[in-house]
Amino acid sequence: MAIALFGGTFNPVHTGHLRVATELAELLHVRSVRMMPCAFPPHRGAPQASAQQRLDMLNAAIANQSLLVADDLELQRTEPSYSIDTLELVRQQIGAVQPLFFCIGMDALAKIDTWQRWRELLGHCHIVVSSRPETERPKTGAVAEWIDAHRCDDLAILQQSPAGKVHFCEMTMLDLSSTEIRRKLARGENIQFMTPDAVVNYIQQHHLYE
Ligand code: ATP
Repeated sequence: MAIALFGGTFNPVHTGHLRVATELAELLHVRSVRMMPCAFPPHRGAPQASAQQRLDMLNAAIANQSLLVADDLELQRTEPSYSIDTLELVRQQIGAVQPLFFCIGMDALAKIDTWQRWRELLGHCHIVVSSRPETERPKTGAVAEWIDAHRCDDLAILQQSPAGKVHFCEMTMLDLSSTEIRRKLARGENIQFMTPDAVVNYIQQHHLYE
C-alpha cells in the first residue's frame, strides 16, 4: 500500500487543507494521507499556537474519519528538521518497495532548489504537486530542468515504483489561508466554516491568535 505525506504548518489547519488532502487520498488511492505539521521556531511577539496546539487542532479536525491521519514525526524531533531528513526516516520505516508520495503545492515546488539536499528528495519519494493559482510552474533554470528529467503524467507508473517521479495535479483550492484565519481572530471576527467546529472551539477555549 502506498503512503502519502502532506506537510504544512497547519497554524491552524483549515478546510482548504482538509479538502485538498481528501482529494489527494482519492487520486493516489492511498488508505490515508498523513498530515504532518512541521516544527518551526515560534515567531517572537506574534501570538502563535505551540507545536502541540497545532497538532491538537489537527487531531480535532480529523477525528472520527479514517482518510486523514495526523503524523507528529517532525514535531518529535529536537533538531531542525528538513524534508529530506523526514523522507529518509519514513523510507526507513516503510522499507524500499512501497511507493511514497510527498505532496506539496506549486508555491513550494517553485522554491524547492532552496531546500536542503533537494536533488536527493526523489531518491526517497515521488513528489506530487498541486497547482496554486498564484504560482506558475518553473519554466527555466535548475528546477525546470529537474522537472523535465523526472516528470511523469501517468499515475499508474508512480503507483508501480517506490520513488523518482514528479507528478502534477489540479486540486480544489478553497480561498482560505491560515494567515487569513489568524488575521480575523486578531480583529475579533468570526471564523466559523473556515475550519471545522472542533477547531473553532479549541481556538476559543485556548484564546489562540487573539
Ligand atoms: P499560512 O497562511 O500560515 O502561510 P497556509 O494556509 O498556506 O498557511 P500551510 O500550512 O502553509 O497553510 O499549507 C500547507 C499545505 O497546504 C501547502 O502545501 C499549501 O500549498 C496547501 N494549502 C494551503 N492553503 C490551501 C488551500 N486553501 N487549498 C488547498 N491547499 C492549500
